[in-house]
Amino acid sequence: MYFPAPCKNRHPVRSRSVGAAATLSIAVTLSGWGHALASQPPTQIGPDDLAFSVSNMDTSIDPRKDFYLFAAGGWLKRVPRPEDRASYSFPVIQGKRIKDQLKAIIAAAERDAPTAPKGTSAQLVGDFYKAFMDVDRRREEGMKPLQEEFAKVDAISSIADLARYSAYAAKTDGIALLISYGPSPDLADSSRYAIYGGPGSTALKDERDVYRSDESAPRRIAYRKYVHEMLSTAGYAPTEADRVTKLVLDIETELDKAQLSPADKRDFNKLNNRMALAQAQALLPQIDVKTYFSELGIPEPKDVIVTEPTYFTAVSNMLKQRPLQDFKDYAKFRLIKQFSDFLSPDFDEPKRALNQAFTGVATLRPLDERGIAQVQGGLGQPLSQLYVHAYYDEDTRRKTSELITYIMAAMEKRIPTRDWLSDKTKVAALEKLKAFNNKVGYPDEWIDYSSVKIVPDNPVANAKAIISFGLKRELAKLGGPVKSDDFNGESTLPIAMNAAYQIFENGFQITAAISQAPAFEPNADPAVRFCRFGALIGHETTHGFDSTGRQFDAKGNLRNWWTLEDTKAFVTEAQKLVDQTAHTELAPGHANDGKLWVGENMADVGGIKLGYTALMDYLKDHPQENVKIDGYTQQQRCFIAWAQLWAENATEAYLINVAKSADHPPNIYRTVAPLQHFDAFYEAFGIKEGDPMWLPPEKRVNTW
Ligand SMILES: [Zn+2]
Repeated sequence: MYFPAPCKNRHPVRSRSVGAAATLSIAVTLSGWGHALASQPPTQIGPDDLAFSVSNMDTSIDPRKDFYLFAAGGWLKRVPRPEDRASYSFPVIQGKRIKDQLKAIIAAAERDAPTAPKGTSAQLVGDFYKAFMDVDRRREEGMKPLQEEFAKVDAISSIADLARYSAYAAKTDGIALLISYGPSPDLADSSRYAIYGGPGSTALKDERDVYRSDESAPRRIAYRKYVHEMLSTAGYAPTEADRVTKLVLDIETELDKAQLSPADKRDFNKLNNRMALAQAQALLPQIDVKTYFSELGIPEPKDVIVTEPTYFTAVSNMLKQRPLQDFKDYAKFRLIKQFSDFLSPDFDEPKRALNQAFTGVATLRPLDERGIAQVQGGLGQPLSQLYVHAYYDEDTRRKTSELITYIMAAMEKRIPTRDWLSDKTKVAALEKLKAFNNKVGYPDEWIDYSSVKIVPDNPVANAKAIISFGLKRELAKLGGPVKSDDFNGESTLPIAMNAAYQIFENGFQITAAISQAPAFEPNADPAVRFCRFGALIGHETTHGFDSTGRQFDAKGNLRNWWTLEDTKAFVTEAQKLVDQTAHTELAPGHANDGKLWVGENMADVGGIKLGYTALMDYLKDHPQENVKIDGYTQQQRCFIAWAQLWAENATEAYLINVAKSADHPPNIYRTVAPLQHFDAFYEAFGIKEGDPMWLPPEKRVNTW
């Protein structure tokens, strides 16, 4: 809702779901009660779950011809994709494990909530979940929970009212209608806040191709049908639903067209348009910024950063051309969409159908799993606190820190050897690396959610209470120094399966939930530890120096510390990754956008190189562990372990969807493509020029 962040959080793994599982993204809190569940050892997982095993390989395949099948062919043949999954791979498997853990925690919280003190983690989590799961009550209530909000929209009688309402909707409902304004660390000085103005949201976030395709495109037809069904379910008469559906598609298409491309949205230099308040006001005269800020509760700033000035101009034109009623109808659709997960279960069917069209999966996740996702989206830290207590141990934290130490040392060693980089830039890069501020497992200080009122029988009210709390908390930070919450992003909660480099804080966060098998097997041999989890840590380290990260300095400020020639050399190097991606088809006839994935791909290349380098250093320190296991050297096991981790059984629809719009490549791409840039990979398996796995040296990227 705030900074229209291209990538505040960068992550190697993320479960994707389209349409159906949009949880509220406002983070919530917690207090310290709730030891409902005693600490328990994690459940055991085996080779079918992608725990490293030679039984997951297909040794009948020549690694020089198809390294992916060699490393993971056994698993691919043996373990089918479950029918309700568009993609089956380690994030799904580990995600399932985490879900089982969360289920146990939530069941305990639900049991304890009635007697737990108000505002404790168990009460908040237990009652929020109970309210969501009571589908009979939700059906009985019908559209009643939104009546008050609809009345607010009905009362809009001028553009000025609409502007005020936009701020109200942001504050109360978490909807950025047409535009958004909010605080985020200043790009020029990450120790203080700036106010950013930017595009509002549209109902589809990650599927912008729908807005950009013509009326007959199947995905657009599916979305149109979805909007129509949502309106019908909300009680709109057929002709009225027809009219508003057309309007929603038209407005969102116009709003999308006015925005930068996804790749440009990651270019901070394009977004960093600081201007006086009057200048921002002039771009969009109809929305009085002073009124907007006072409605939001922000003191009026002297200047703002307007991320996409042309977007503001386009909205101004729309407000001139369209009748007010159009925007009121659109606002109501957004309310229905925003809270539909907490209304009648009749809204499930349109969501299911849209999800099927977008991902090829015909069924929604079971209700209890959707309930867990909602608790995670709304009460992430309270739930995490219960999770860490039950499932994370200090030995894992210590072993993770050991990996980090070796990876950081490997990067420190590699930077001076980058022959394309000048000495001056190398010094600045080392300075940035040494300033990394890394966090492991969970936050030192949890957010206090004890003031949030969560009840067992009103899920819409609960959602709104959480949204208001989150916004109030963010706004309260204004005027002071930047105070970032550790482990509180949608993708950085301790229960999120993720590791994320934070640009503004210049450091990464490794969550408790990702620190378990198959990503991390603390007791496996060094190759498996360093070239799976170690390489993921290396991936995050590299993000500090990828196409986006390199634009920020040691303090997390947007500042160019590169010489012009080094920048040129970097771009030339990065282009090799763009070319490699563009020449790979994941589904026949569907080209990949190499530019969109270049940051992730560079991080993967860096990740495996750092993992391997760190492994070599570790084996020097621990020579007795440098042994062949199952007939493979530590060097060979390193690359097998990496490629096997990313094995993936996926539908074609899923791969097409990812190729079009996701900023992470699908896992299947990550198995071998990064290895092909590394000489040590070729040496480990005797891969030579002429072999299918061979990438000519001049096409190998040599960034980090
Ligand atoms: Zn990443």
